[in-house]
Amino acid sequence: MDASQTRPPVIIVGAGLTGLAAAYHLRSPYLLVEREAEVGGHARSRRVGGYTFDVTGHWLHLRSPRARALVAAVMEADALVEVERRTRVHSHGALLPYPFQANLFGLPLAVVQECLCGLVEARERAARGAQVGATFAEFAVARFGEGIARHFFVPYNRKLWAEHFDRLSAAWVAGYVPIPSVAEIIGGALGLPQEGLGYNARFLTPRGGGIDALPRALRSALLRGGGGELRTSCGVEEIDAIGRRVKLVDEPTWRPYEALISTMPLPELCARLVGAPAAVREAAGRLRWVRWRYLDVATRAPAAADYHWVYVPDPALPFFRVGVYSNACPAMAPPGCASLYVELSARDGAIDEAAVVAGLVQIGALARAEDLGFLTVREIEHAYVVFDDEHAAATATILGWLAGRGILSCGRYGAWTYDSMEGALLAGADAAAWADARRAA
Ligand SMILES: Cc1cc2nc3c(=O)[nH]c(=O)nc-3n(C[C@H](O)[C@H](O)[C@H](O)COP(=O)(O)OP(=O)(O)OC[C@H]3O[C@@H](n4cnc5c(N)ncnc54)[C@H](O)[C@@H]3O)c2cc1C
Repeated sequence: MDASQTRPPVIIVGAGLTGLAAAYHLRSPYLLVEREAEVGGHARSRRVGGYTFDVTGHWLHLRSPRARALVAAVMEADALVEVERRTRVHSHGALLPYPFQANLFGLPLAVVQECLCGLVEARERAARGAQVGATFAEFAVARFGEGIARHFFVPYNRKLWAEHFDRLSAAWVAGYVPIPSVAEIIGGALGLPQEGLGYNARFLTPRGGGIDALPRALRSALLRGGGGELRTSCGVEEIDAIGRRVKLVDEPTWRPYEALISTMPLPELCARLVGAPAAVREAAGRLRWVRWRYLDVATRAPAAADYHWVYVPDPALPFFRVGVYSNACPAMAPPGCASLYVELSARDGAIDEAAVVAGLVQIGALARAEDLGFLTVREIEHAYVVFDDEHAAATATILGWLAGRGILSCGRYGAWTYDSMEGALLAGADAAAWADARRAA
């Protein structure tokens, strides 16, 4: 028996897209453990009575040749369809194209005037060398002016981030906000079309309905490859980072590792660490995230509006974003029906279903209240990582300490960052290269 067969396999925690991609790329033997019965993590789908629901909108963008090659290797050539994004903003009773700041036409004229005057004043302040504040709200005012911040950025993001909104750092969010030119903002206020701005003007979606087609294709490729073992319904209970061993739920003995790839949320990893120093435990206490509640909604009639998703800044409406899966992929609902997701502002307490349904009619997602088939409440514990003043130092402390103990914590929640499904595929490939290199050293 050669030495490589007696050495412990690379342990991968979590079979979301990052963990699956890591296993797919690994040359070393691996053990991939997933707490849930199904692979996919946040990229999973539920099917009920002919309707398909993802964990809210999961639209795939593949910009990197590496990610495209991986998807092409595991999925049939025609398994994905490309869709031109139809996104709207519902504001003051109007359905505007996205993004708000470049499509003011259609708002009440006084609001358009307020937004444009605010933009001019913001540019004057910038020309005088005014400092931009550190928070997201200050960034929005400095970049777009008081009006655009007041009518869109502040109310929308307050609904999305809830109590964390005031801590959000401008440095991070700024990278994700489309910044149109002055000509585009004025053109949009006059009614010239400005759609297609921003990072996601087109996306891919599985033709058959449900983003879980991607993790399932990866799982099939792993099973065909036979380079390791995938165990579902198998959670990691504790990690002894000093002794370099892992305890799985329902297994009496510890398993040693030379390289551990963890994709579980960083606070959960820290909670399972045995022997972590005080600095790491304190840093873990400074990690913040936003929890979401959302609804799977099935309708008995087509959606009244044709958008794929709509942003809803109005504080009077109980949701901040609504999407119609079946407008992007008809296979996600029975013929003549629609499947929707509704991202709710309130994280706790009873849900006023009548107010939600009335709101859906108001924004055109439902033609009539009677069209509602059923709705189901769902939760996402770690929806978005909160990028506040503590984020950079806390994650650096934890990830640095883990790296010194043969643990790479990666993926959107492992690295404790904001990332896409494409990012997860690439993070998994990089993690595999890291683990193979450790074993070869
Ligand atoms: C609301 C929302 C909308 C999104 N929309 C998009 C979009 O439109 N487009 C896009 O590209 N991306 C989108 N994303 C991002 C995308 O979902 C993630 O980037 C990607 O799915 C992350 O994959 P991952 O494998 O890193 O993490 P995860 O999917 O979280 O996988 C981690 C896995 O670890 C498992 N696990 C956790 N703890 C343990 C344990 N103790 N033992 C064993 N297993 C464990 C979990 O069950 C899970 O399967 C969205 C995310 C959210 C939350």
